[in-house]
Amino acid sequence: SVSLAPDHALRCTVGCRNQRFQPSSESVGGLRRQRSSYENMCGTGHCRRQLPDCQILGVPLKTMPSSRSLSIILPLHNEADSIHLLIDALHESMRAWKGKWEIICVDDGSKDNTWSSVQKLATTHARIQGLRFTRNFGKEAAILAGLEAAQGAWVVVMDGDGQHPPALLPDLLRHAENDAFEIIAGKKRVRAPENAAAGMLSRVFNQIMHAATGLDLQNSCDYRLLKRPVIEALLRMPERIRFFRAMTVWTGFAQLDVEFDVLPRLAGNSAWSTRGLISLAVNGITGF
Ligand code: UDP
Ligand code: MG
Repeated sequence: SVSLAPDHALRCTVGCRNQRFQPSSESVGGLRRQRSSYENMCGTGHCRRQLPDCQILGVPLKTMPSSRSLSIILPLHNEADSIHLLIDALHESMRAWKGKWEIICVDDGSKDNTWSSVQKLATTHARIQGLRFTRNFGKEAAILAGLEAAQGAWVVVMDGDGQHPPALLPDLLRHAENDAFEIIAGKKRVRAPENAAAGMLSRVFNQIMHAATGLDLQNSCDYRLLKRPVIEALLRMPERIRFFRAMTVWTGFAQLDVEFDVLPRLAGNSAWSTRGLISLAVNGITGF
């Protein structure tokens, strides 16, 4: 169990009235997990956001090593035609996993039947949880909402359109057994892009990003497994504009890259608009 620091040192610094320190453990995947102490100082959650990102008073951020639980986060924008296929493929890929797991579907303001599909799937698949945005806030916001909801000691973020192969999951999970790494990142295998212009733009963006910020995102993507310390670090970042994959690299936790081939979409078209891509690029370069 985690040794707890003295009460006075752990008080909420932002004027919260409820200064009672309540160490607690919570059930994650059926296993008890000691929550890091400063998550529990008050019930409102704002203490956690205000305190600096460090191992306060020696209380480890790590979950218990025996925690075997995984949250799979799927950002979804107009994926009604394919979500059931992806859910089936995930169950197939997770068959050998000897731990608890959940799927968090985040409907990012879809205009099609994505939400009713998720609702229907949730009635037959106990692992499925759904979050629904009031409008389209963008993939980054959907990922953040998923991270906030995730109970797992580990999370995997993957695209909800089938382009990130569920068949790679067992590999990601196997690599994650290695305690030397906190991030297992899918890395897109280089191939001739269907859209040469888009491929070139992405390369140029990554080169500028690398030169300007020192973060190397070449062929990186959002398909990645994060362990709890990385998730906690991301959740304590106050940024409203977020760039998930860059922020995970920025945290500095040890990352292992695993190459994979990006698959075609199961259905539909990419939802990115030119405006959205330019905005992501500008935010990425100026944000770091
Ligand atoms: N997505 C989202 N919100 C958006 C745009 C996309 O949640 O505003 C989701 C989408 O449903 C998919 C993933 O993000 O699961 C990647 O989107 P997309 O396939 O359009 O992008 P690409 O594969 O071209 O990068
Ligand atoms: Mg896609």
